[in-house]
Amino acid sequence: VAPTSPPRSSPNILVTGTPGTGKTTTAEMVALAAGLEKVTVGELVKERVLHDGYNDEFDTYWLNEDKVVDEMESMVAGGGMCVDFHTCGFFPERWFDLVVVLRAETDKIYDRLEGRGYKPNKIQENIECEIMQVVLEEARESYKAEIIMELPSNTVEDMEANVDKIVAFVEEFRQTH
Ligand code: ADP
Ligand code: MN
Repeated sequence: VAPTSPPRSSPNILVTGTPGTGKTTTAEMVALAAGLEKVTVGELVKERVLHDGYNDEFDTYWLNEDKVVDEMESMVAGGGMCVDFHTCGFFPERWFDLVVVLRAETDKIYDRLEGRGYKPNKIQENIECEIMQVVLEEARESYKAEIIMELPSNTVEDMEANVDKIVAFVEEFRQTH
C-alpha cells in the first residue's frame, strides 16, 4: 500500500457508466449483499447543492466537482463505500479499490432512458456516449487497469452475475486487508 493511500479494511467501490446502464440498481444490490454504504452522487449533488445551477439544454445540473470531492472526502475515508455516478475522472484516484464500468447495448439504454422520461436530445447524447465508450476511456485515463472491471449490463442475469463478482471482490479484499 502506497503511503498516500490510507489502509482500509473494507474497500471503496465506484460503479460508473452511461446513464441507463444500471449503476444505481447494481450499486444498491452490492451494498445490500456486501454490507457497504451506498452513495448515489447524483442525489447528493441535488440534496447538498454541489452544483452551479441548472443546465436547461441538457436537463441536468452543472456539476461543481470541487464541492463534490470536498463533501465526499470524509465519507470515503474509512472505506466500505459503494459510490454510483455517471462520470469518474474527477474523483481522487486514491479513493477507490475497484472501478466497475457497466456497459449496455444502445437499444437497452434507449428503452431505459425513455422509460425514465428523458427528452430525445438527452437520450441521443447518452447513446452516443455509450457508443463512444466515453466513461470507459475516462476510467482508463484515471485509474490503473488492474482495478477496472468492465461488465455487460443488458439482462437481469448480467446484473446478478455482476453483483456476485463485485461481492466476491469485497470479500477477498476484506480477507487480505
Ligand atoms: P443508472 O443508475 O445507470 O442510470 P438504473 O440502475 O437506474 O441505471 O437502471 C435504469 C433502469 O434499467 C431501471 O429500471 C433498471 O431496473 C433497469 N436495468 C438496469 N440494469 C439492468 C439489467 N442489467 N437488466 C435489466 N434491466 C436493467
Ligand atoms: Mn442512477
